[in-house]
Amino acid sequence: MKIQAALITAPQQPIQIEMLELDPPRAGEVLVQIKACGVCHSDYHLISGATKHPLPVVPGHEGAGIVEAVGDGVTRIQPGDHVVLNWAPSCGHCFYCLRGKPNLCDTFVGPIWNGVMLDGTPRLRWNDQPVYHFSALAAFAEYAVVPQETCVVIRNDVLLSVAALVGCAVTTGVGAVLYSAQVQAGDRVAVFGCGGVGLSVILGAQLAGAQQIIAIDRVPQKLELAKQFGATDVIDASKADAVALVRQLTAGRGADVTFEVTGVPQLQTAGVEAARPGGKAVWVGLSAMESSTSLSGAQLVRQEKTVIGSYYGSAHTARDFPFLLDLYAAGKLNLDRLISRTYRLVEINAAFEAMLNGEVARGVVTF
Ligand SMILES: [Zn+2]
Ligand SMILES: [Zn+2]
Repeated sequence: MKIQAALITAPQQPIQIEMLELDPPRAGEVLVQIKACGVCHSDYHLISGATKHPLPVVPGHEGAGIVEAVGDGVTRIQPGDHVVLNWAPSCGHCFYCLRGKPNLCDTFVGPIWNGVMLDGTPRLRWNDQPVYHFSALAAFAEYAVVPQETCVVIRNDVLLSVAALVGCAVTTGVGAVLYSAQVQAGDRVAVFGCGGVGLSVILGAQLAGAQQIIAIDRVPQKLELAKQFGATDVIDASKADAVALVRQLTAGRGADVTFEVTGVPQLQTAGVEAARPGGKAVWVGLSAMESSTSLSGAQLVRQEKTVIGSYYGSAHTARDFPFLLDLYAAGKLNLDRLISRTYRLVEINAAFEAMLNGEVARGVVTF
């Protein structure tokens, strides 16, 4: 079938909107009519070239839609099901899955990072040349063929634009709080970075019963958003020493738990310094592969601080996508506010520009 899709043909070039050929789903695959796809920094890393990937590629990994058709052997998912797409599907039987860590499953990492389906081939073509699928999803498109393992069936009474955000930012942020950090009622937390993931951390911290949520950013609009999301204190890091202020706001000790969501080494260090002795620093943001971060060994040992890496919120997506949407439907997780703007697919370059300028909590392309 012919579909309209966003296409990256070379790094540091605007995204093109093209008509591509999409093959039908093969065994174990699912054809999804995409209804919404969030605009995330990980896609921007493809555009900037920071993430190396076979080209041309269709980006988009924060998607939700309605199942249109299924390939042979797919029994768990049916046409008409509403699904949120999972960019780190798990197999259920490897070393990590058996230890309750499906977010670390390595069974499908090879094909997924090569931009192909699990059988090693792509389903997309442009001018008779193969086109690759980012995260095996390629969700900035009217339709996507995806491995069945990426599909999480959800309730059909929530807007798919809201559901899409659960596919990346919300699970990453809320999961970091509930699962990676295990924030306790009454904890004081600090969040470095207030984009879609940082705001989700703030929502998660409220859910966990944190008494104080300190939000740190350099963009005034984002700090304003953070307040609306429930931050009790905000720090403009362009004007003040964030670490010193976090300590000052927490009786001189530092926060029980800090979250760093940008992946910038200096902020990761700041997150560790802003944690109290015995506290936790949780690193959520994806750093560039070649970057490294310097920490004080003396501080870690003498002050018994713990640094925790959190990937996809340490979540179990099959369990947590429906769980988070149940919380949303029950009014416990206000995800509506996360969507600042919706865009049509042809406006995708403007959507990324708004994200980089810090103008939006989350932008979502809707179909
Ligand atoms: Zn993402
Ligand atoms: Zn596995």
